[in-house]
Amino acid sequence: MARFIFITGGVVSSLGKGLASAALGALLQARGYSVRLRKLDPYLNVDPGTMSPFEHGEVFVTDDGAETDLDLGHYERFTGVAARKTDSISAGRIYSNVLEKERRGDYLGKTIQVIPHVTDEIKDFIDIGADEVDFMLCEIGGTVGDIEGLPFFEAIRQFSQDKPRGQCVFMHLTLLPFIKASGELKTKPTQHSVKELRSIGLAPDILVCRSEGTIPVKEREKLALFCNVRPDAVVAAQDLKSIYEAPLAYHREGLDQAVLDAFRIAPVPRPQLARWEDVADRIYNPEGTVKIAIVGKYVQLEDAYKSIAEALTHGGMANRVKVQIEWVDAELFDREDPAPHLAGFHAILVPGGFGERGTEGKIKAAQFARERKVPYLGICLGMQMAVIEAARNVAGLKTAGSEEFDHEAGKKRFEPVVYHLKEWVQGNYTVQRALSDDKGGTMRLGAYDAVLAEGSRVAEIYGTTRIEERHRHRYEVDITYREQLEKTGLRFSGMSPDGRLPEIVEWTDHPWFIGVQFHPELKSKPFDPHPLFADFVRAAKDSSRLV
Ligand code: GLN
Repeated sequence: MARFIFITGGVVSSLGKGLASAALGALLQARGYSVRLRKLDPYLNVDPGTMSPFEHGEVFVTDDGAETDLDLGHYERFTGVAARKTDSISAGRIYSNVLEKERRGDYLGKTIQVIPHVTDEIKDFIDIGADEVDFMLCEIGGTVGDIEGLPFFEAIRQFSQDKPRGQCVFMHLTLLPFIKASGELKTKPTQHSVKELRSIGLAPDILVCRSEGTIPVKEREKLALFCNVRPDAVVAAQDLKSIYEAPLAYHREGLDQAVLDAFRIAPVPRPQLARWEDVADRIYNPEGTVKIAIVGKYVQLEDAYKSIAEALTHGGMANRVKVQIEWVDAELFDREDPAPHLAGFHAILVPGGFGERGTEGKIKAAQFARERKVPYLGICLGMQMAVIEAARNVAGLKTAGSEEFDHEAGKKRFEPVVYHLKEWVQGNYTVQRALSDDKGGTMRLGAYDAVLAEGSRVAEIYGTTRIEERHRHRYEVDITYREQLEKTGLRFSGMSPDGRLPEIVEWTDHPWFIGVQFHPELKSKPFDPHPLFADFVRAAKDSSRLV
């Protein structure tokens, strides 16, 4: 049966709890253990699928079609373990499950309460698949003291009591602020945070303290004494230049040793860290720089395109170059000529997105890349816009557009080269959708196969003609236009296995112009860069030699 590690946060949010959890997962793997990571979020949305990327950052999609928190992206990137639907849950989902059961009559006769009904639901969730791995790491979103977090803290308290002694370890992440005026590292906020935890019955075994510099022995001892942990279980988490150094940095600070000690595992297996040493070497010793523009809508919050930025970094690591990303607001091109803004970049990426705002700018970016022969990667909406650009400017379909925007505007302005999908095949089932369906969880979501054309550029890049990639979209390029577009040189080089849904397009007379309907960025890892990103950055590197 698995051992459980619960990761909580205190003092302030955004301390990198997800990253610490992911790095710990990687370190346990390096010692030969199997792991699974899980996120429990106290907010009331049923899933993050309907949240604005401006507010919550990217929605990470799993193979089995769940729309989850972006921390699951960190988990996958650090451990390579594909996340599942059952690795992400919110208070909204918990309550909705409980209420559904109540309506069904499962609790007939009972008064439904937070304890035990809500907490039981949370505990059942934590235990799913626990017998498959050595360690289950569960991160609780938010910080201790949040009202909505309480049922989760109570549930993990009960959970650790239900399990045999020594089966659960609690790790708490806090901040040690540095006061410049007195030149001191302050431990008081951490003490208060631990006090808050203890008041709800949770005693941390390990403290991970974010700080700008090292933690002097005096402060370490003070933290240990006042927070009731062992001095070697006070682990410093210093700011790092790259997140990919985190496993090595946490190992140097003794995190994995402290965790294994807390479980009383001895002797501990020696860690194999070669993978992370290679990753750190590639990230810290690049042999050049390429500049890539991301022309998108949610450019104010970089977390909105988290996986894309990471996948580009991985592509850079594959080519031993640093990828310098610049965020360009697509709406800028509604007013201004893109040429002066995009000149000087070695490649252009147009990411996914929803709604009409910014799309004319994305179409212009695709046109610029096509005409100037700049490497272009269009992802999801970025592919759809590239197809519309080709239809309008090359195939002469002047009013080409997407039904998504007409649907919003309530009138027909465009010839729908991209249309709303009403029916598709998923495994052995046919899925049916209407425009009037609920917004949550109704897209074409999760992993789908695609067949790549023999001799196409993408078949060469992937090194195969059968791939599986993750999707998250409602609209599709209409194959009715395939012949007309292919005549102009836009090859439909990847299709769904039934031949109905275009998955990939590429310009045949261009050095590197590829649009994909799926999200390749979700599967890229630092130690296993996604082939499309690796080759895209290679093309950028080649074009940087020409500039
Ligand atoms: N809005 C488009 C659709 O739903 C693209 C979605 C995306 O880019 N993820 O099809």
